[in-house]
Amino acid sequence: MSEIGKMYIDGQWVLAKSGKTRDVIGPADGQIVAAVTEGDKEDVIEAVAAAKATFDKGDWRRTTPNERAALLHGIADKLAARIDEFAALETLNNGKPLRDSTYDVYDSIDCLRYYAGLINKPSGQKYAVPNPDMEAMVVREPIGVCGQIVPWNYPLMMAAWKLAPCLAAGNTVVFKPSELTPLTAIKLFEILEEVGIPAGVANLVLGAGATVGQEIAENMDIEKVAFTGGTVTGRKIMTAATGNLKNISLELGGKSPCIVFDDYDLEKAVDWAMFAIFCNQGQVCSAGSRLLLQDTIYDAFLERMAERTKRIRIAKGDAEGAEMGPLISEAHMNKVLSYIEIGKEEGARLLCGGYRMTEPEFADGYFVAPAIFADCTPDMRIVQEEIFGPVLAVQKFHDEEEAIFLANHTAYGLAGGVFSNDLSRAMRVIKAVRAGITWINAYHPTYPEAPWGGYKQSGIGRELGTFGLDEYTEIKQININLAPGNSGWFEIR
Ligand code: NAD
Repeated sequence: MSEIGKMYIDGQWVLAKSGKTRDVIGPADGQIVAAVTEGDKEDVIEAVAAAKATFDKGDWRRTTPNERAALLHGIADKLAARIDEFAALETLNNGKPLRDSTYDVYDSIDCLRYYAGLINKPSGQKYAVPNPDMEAMVVREPIGVCGQIVPWNYPLMMAAWKLAPCLAAGNTVVFKPSELTPLTAIKLFEILEEVGIPAGVANLVLGAGATVGQEIAENMDIEKVAFTGGTVTGRKIMTAATGNLKNISLELGGKSPCIVFDDYDLEKAVDWAMFAIFCNQGQVCSAGSRLLLQDTIYDAFLERMAERTKRIRIAKGDAEGAEMGPLISEAHMNKVLSYIEIGKEEGARLLCGGYRMTEPEFADGYFVAPAIFADCTPDMRIVQEEIFGPVLAVQKFHDEEEAIFLANHTAYGLAGGVFSNDLSRAMRVIKAVRAGITWINAYHPTYPEAPWGGYKQSGIGRELGTFGLDEYTEIKQININLAPGNSGWFEIR
């Protein structure tokens, strides 16, 4: 096996102080694909010290927007020259089909270039205040040392979404990938070093959530924590971040509705509904994991959807033409399978899939045949809880009012889609859906230009777009006195 994957702290590639290592497992066959160093609390403390010293020194935050833009473009250029290499590594570590990994690399490049382009655009505000001799304005400044924690479902893309705006704004950072998928993050940091991001600006710490992640959330010298992951973890991070009242942004879980009215082309709606739930093996925060069908098309729709779902090409991610791959880990597969048992016990009707695939080519990997549960009722656990796998819960509605009620009957509010040729109705429904990312007559397409984030228990704050840059800045008001006089408050004696 090749060299142990290292952390990048203060411009040096280092092993964890504890000397511990972690095996990285490929989900396609359960084999060890790499070993990486396993950081702990003390490694975070060292990385934070480097990030703080670098921020306080001031050289980085005083680089011009054009200098930072050139660095971000440099990272994007290097990624663009190595798309196949990054995609293959992501597929090896995460299991997703090569087509998906390749798309993720393109998205990461787009995100880096978007923020490279945004940072030298006009920003700030100027106010007309009641005193004609005072000029009042607002400028945006970097926050300081940021901590970033990301999950395993889009390892490289999540790193790009987090690092690009953070560095664009002039912060320094301690970044933690998921312990399950550290490989593309290590390669990305190699690129950060190659393009000349100064030592101490961007630091990579590898390790578990309970140790490295917890210290990032707690550390008193980190002024902002940005997290993407499950809602339960998000709650822990929010609690841990209270010590120094960190600025916080949370991109959490979802249980998003995909609503189909009977006036929309059935074949096309089936196609989108499949994409909504089964892309990335259903391991998508914004997945359309609740399908709401109008009663008039319910049976015909489900018959066609089950027929097409059974024909999805499931294969190892690097196989030609693979459409779905394995789930991320054995533990996660078992969690998903346990939800399928719960669905059966709750009385939902399983139309297809819902079992571990055991044919010889799948036997050692974590493959689950995509499952559709019909006849679900609003309070079933498979309707209310995020499964984060290829499991769809289908409900029937009669009219617009019922569709909206069911769509909002959840603690989450990340995403939602509606299909209807009646644009007025589609607009009424989507406006009534309490979610941050929505579509009409589509599901999933999103771009770095537009904000990403949820209502309710799906999170706090927004990534991407101009909002995503704002999340990494402090707002400062500056008042300039143009008059030569005194304050006039106390008599001069
Ligand atoms: P997770 O919450 O288990 O882990 C996410 C990250 O948090 C990992 O790096 C993990 O090591 C770390 N972590 C775990 N416990 C921690 C703790 N106590 N303190 C600090 N860090 C800790 O999530 P996951 O299983 O990796 O990812 C799946 C979840 O992520 C799903 O719920 C999904 O919806 C969510 N997600 C959300 C978005 C979004 O944009 N809203 C995007 C992708 C994934």
